[in-house]
Amino acid sequence: MNLVAWWGVGTPRSSTVQFHRVPISSAKGSPMADPKRVVVCGGGVIGVSTAYFLAEKGADVTLIEKSDVACAASGKAGGFLALDWCDGGPLEELARTSFNLHRSLSEELDGPRSYGYRALTTLSLTVAESEGSSSATSTLPSWVNGAARSCKTIGTPETTAQVHPRLFTRALIDRAVEKHGVKVEIAKLERLEVEEGRVGSVVLEGGRVLEADAVVLALGPWSSKLVLLSSLFRVYGLKAHSLVLEPREHSSITPHALSLTYYPSGRETPLVDLEVYPRPTGEVYLCGVGEVEEVPDDPEEIRSNPEWKELLRRVAKNVSSYLGEEVARVKAEQACFLPCTDDGVPVIGEVPGVKGCYVATGHNCWGILNGPATGAAVAELVVDGHSSIVALKRFSPARFLGLSRKA
Ligand SMILES: Cc1cc2nc3c(=O)[nH]c(=O)nc-3n(C[C@H](O)[C@H](O)[C@H](O)COP(=O)(O)OP(=O)(O)OC[C@H]3O[C@@H](n4cnc5c(N)ncnc54)[C@H](O)[C@@H]3O)c2cc1C
Repeated sequence: MNLVAWWGVGTPRSSTVQFHRVPISSAKGSPMADPKRVVVCGGGVIGVSTAYFLAEKGADVTLIEKSDVACAASGKAGGFLALDWCDGGPLEELARTSFNLHRSLSEELDGPRSYGYRALTTLSLTVAESEGSSSATSTLPSWVNGAARSCKTIGTPETTAQVHPRLFTRALIDRAVEKHGVKVEIAKLERLEVEEGRVGSVVLEGGRVLEADAVVLALGPWSSKLVLLSSLFRVYGLKAHSLVLEPREHSSITPHALSLTYYPSGRETPLVDLEVYPRPTGEVYLCGVGEVEEVPDDPEEIRSNPEWKELLRRVAKNVSSYLGEEVARVKAEQACFLPCTDDGVPVIGEVPGVKGCYVATGHNCWGILNGPATGAAVAELVVDGHSSIVALKRFSPARFLGLSRKA
């Protein structure tokens, strides 16, 4: 297995945490007299967040998704959120804004805890299969009773949180449909019609045409399948695997997210960045990242590699006796693709040379965290012509042309 360190945006730095909550009302607008018709393509967390905030600002929004809302990475991700783990890098402002937006959204949308938002303690630890049982430390929760050592607290409930990503994405689109009449169509975007440098419509598989004043392309790892985008920059897919367990004794499992350095038996080099996330739904989610692979056209065709299935089951039982096969039902063994760019930075902004056409992709391992702020910023860009919630210049697709663009 060729393993790639994927969560590698640096270890969280200790910092003074400031809660400058971003009021969702600041992203809202009064209804437009002549609402802009916007077609958002892609029903992952990025497309759905964009559709939600566009609708809040009064746009007339249609979301096009070829398979099902949250059918890909946005439904199969961990859903881990961190306030300050991207500090010092290009994502700092986006991540901090989005972490706070997640909290505000949970107050507005997560009424009967519908999508499992909660604050967490996050621990890093080393697990070696050859070492047997744990040498208990005061920071280790009692359910982490496997071969764990070197435990450190790397996130507190003030700085780390989680959502169930599929439930979050669906809650957001449901609200946008119910409150703002957003239309969701299951259809495949085939191409865009561009006239005199401005987008005029999208053409769906089968030939149906939807007219639009603006189009947002949020196709995740499928972005490069559209020549309009692949002629400007590359988005490739990094395949990641996950295991979802339902432990019989889930009430003993506390809200602690684990980031593991894992030594399989007989191996000197560890696997890094294996993650374990207990969820308030009673599930425990485990994941790790594998290789760059060709992304199949149909998201439903993405399957876990057998060696990853076996590895994640071993990790589960070596971390906790509550997660062994005999006491925890396997709910899902799945895989999906992180959308990655060549410079590791998302691409968010107007497509150079095509007025009214915007792109938002390349969120790598932080798309669930950064979905809300990306959506709010793109909504501002489309409706107001500029984003005030997050400076988008750093993310502009024009960077691949060596152009500078005002966002
Ligand atoms: C195992 C794993 C764990 C992760 N854990 C976390 C985490 O804990 N925290 C975090 O912040 N991030 C995490 N991520 C990253 C996060 O999941 C992604 O960055 C994010 O989901 C990307 O969202 P997206 O909307 O860009 O793409 P996607 O979710 O891939 O959505 C793209 C959508 O576009 C649709 N589409 C494609 N082509 C067309 C077309 N032609 N017409 C219409 N629709 C089309 C697809 O069907 C799909 O639904 C994880 C990812 C993985 C794989």
